[in-house]
Amino acid sequence: MMYKFKLGMIMLSGTLAFAACNSGGSDKATTGTQKETSKEGEFQYNAESFADVQVLRYQVPGWDKLTPQQKEFIYYLSEASLAGRDMIWDQRGKYNLTVRKVLEAVYGTYSGKKEGADWENFKTYAGQVWFSNGLYHHYSNDKIMPAFNETYFADLVKNSDAKLLPLEEGENVDGLLARLQKVIFDKSYMPKMADFKAGIDHIAASSNNFYEGVTQAEVDAFYATFPKSDHEPEWGLNSKVVKENGKLVEKVWKSGGMYGAAIDKMIFWIEKAIPLSENEQQKKALQLLVEYYKTGDLKKWDEYAIAWTANTSSVVDFTNGFIEVYADAIGKKGSYESIVSIKDFESSKRIEAIAAQAQWFEDNSPLIESHKKKNVKGINAKVINVVMEAGDAAPSTPIGINLPNSDWLRKEHGSKSVSLGNIVSAYNNSAGSGMTDEFAINDEVKARSKKYGSLSSDLHTDMHECIGHASGQINPGVGTPDQTLKNYASTLEEARADLVALYYVLDQKLVDIGVMPSLEVGKAEYDNYMMNGLMTQLVRIKQGDEIEEAHMRNRALVAYWALEKGAKDKVVEFVKKDGKTYVQVNNYEKLRTLFGELLKEIQRIKSEGDYKAGRDLVENYGVKVNQELHKEVLARYAKLNIKPYKGFIQPRLVPVEKDGKITDVKLEYPNSFYEQMLEFGKKYALLPVKN
Ligand code: ZN
Repeated sequence: MMYKFKLGMIMLSGTLAFAACNSGGSDKATTGTQKETSKEGEFQYNAESFADVQVLRYQVPGWDKLTPQQKEFIYYLSEASLAGRDMIWDQRGKYNLTVRKVLEAVYGTYSGKKEGADWENFKTYAGQVWFSNGLYHHYSNDKIMPAFNETYFADLVKNSDAKLLPLEEGENVDGLLARLQKVIFDKSYMPKMADFKAGIDHIAASSNNFYEGVTQAEVDAFYATFPKSDHEPEWGLNSKVVKENGKLVEKVWKSGGMYGAAIDKMIFWIEKAIPLSENEQQKKALQLLVEYYKTGDLKKWDEYAIAWTANTSSVVDFTNGFIEVYADAIGKKGSYESIVSIKDFESSKRIEAIAAQAQWFEDNSPLIESHKKKNVKGINAKVINVVMEAGDAAPSTPIGINLPNSDWLRKEHGSKSVSLGNIVSAYNNSAGSGMTDEFAINDEVKARSKKYGSLSSDLHTDMHECIGHASGQINPGVGTPDQTLKNYASTLEEARADLVALYYVLDQKLVDIGVMPSLEVGKAEYDNYMMNGLMTQLVRIKQGDEIEEAHMRNRALVAYWALEKGAKDKVVEFVKKDGKTYVQVNNYEKLRTLFGELLKEIQRIKSEGDYKAGRDLVENYGVKVNQELHKEVLARYAKLNIKPYKGFIQPRLVPVEKDGKITDVKLEYPNSFYEQMLEFGKKYALLPVKN
């Protein structure tokens, strides 16, 4: 599972994310969190911004301390990551690759004047589509609408290099434009990548490319025929479902199958990496990954995950595969994602201290006894610095990841939980304190947020990933959450993990194990979380819309549930000051008790597979938006001139060769997102474009 960046974090001032509780240390660290600013002076974190997006750059601390072999290993894994790029585009909509080719052609070769309002609007549109890996907003899932008109678009396309356009056989430019007319300019045509609204056919209403010509009822019936067992693979994870001769079939994403051309290239790079593996477990994992990509066999995917989880000692690590299911409204299809990283030994100490107490946290949690894990399997937690992110993890990135996703694998083989140190650090370094200054209720809350907000947010992520997702167990015989809780599974799972974090961040235990200086850190987190869940996260959606994204739904659910249940004791309340609305937490201890109660209930829902209760929680607390409050928040936010979404330019890895052998790999930090998109478009265009 991925833990996405939450808006509260951009309030933090420029403190380095992990410095607070890891000063000193005797471990001979391979990497550190110090800023590497030596040669070029202050590192520039901010790159282009457009629409609602600010693009950032990140650094890779520790790169220079790697051996040439480790760097070469990373280079191959990074190339494998990028070779899969076309897949995420195609998964998020069947016209995405076609439109991308057109944007690349125009942006790179348009012979007319590249200036004026129309051109700026085109640039904004291209930036948005590149940032979202397709036509649908990376977060809201809504179709991105251009601010230029069809006439201007036709002029752009006709005056660009025709050789770069995705023309079909015998087609001219007019034919292409006609084909794309509705796709780009008609808001009502294929309007949403994934539609989570209640009471609809989620498959018919979603425009992602996971299903075609089938209904949700047909898909449910189809997957109901797959064998059930305690060691069930994630059925459906790596395929598109279509109808052939009246029957549903899977088009499997594998070598020789759908996406075969990209997957073959990935296999090519992974096979180059295998001999350079740091240990036998890692080697085995990579070999199994290749077998999985060759066969599409989901049992191989599980074997890979077991080997991958067992490797806890390497400096270099990676995730690669069809993994997260958030882009599918019924939570079956995995989006392609890859991250290559190196361990940050110094920063890992905090999260390791937390992971070491996993059983204590489980034993002392407010869950019903039978829902607790009696024997929490090794949770391996660490802080990593990413070197390359691709697919679903880029340009918008998670800040924490806990894998594998399969419940039985986690129960029997444990999981690895990582916090993306250099990403969090880049966020912190790029942001000001504008949000806190505007929305925090008083000076005490503001001061606490500035002092502890960074640490509290890091602790929340650690607890969410490493304790939260790994906690609890499902009753015997109850199906997996995607079977029982269906379209509410992701939201409820995120809420459960958040609540574990919230419950413990105000616990003396975290002070006792040395990861936070006092309970003030927990209070900062409660202030932040409630303000975000009740109010400020609304800056991410348009006036009139409901909340749809799983993490946003979960935060609203938790915050509004606690507001309502604590109303009679005034645990939390909205306060008006000078005509502005603020959130005030009056009783932190009672709020903690409420978080515990909700945690217990959501775990019960998951353990028992109680769809109705889960649905009611999400629909009653996590979806609807108070229009008046939303309007106020948007107006106040607009004045701050902050972009609600951030994402990253990836570093460029340049191998240094001698006599046909790689002797070193240089790391460069490109500074233009647009140029990187063109570069990737040229270098990693591996899938045929056909609609
Ligand atoms: Zn999560």
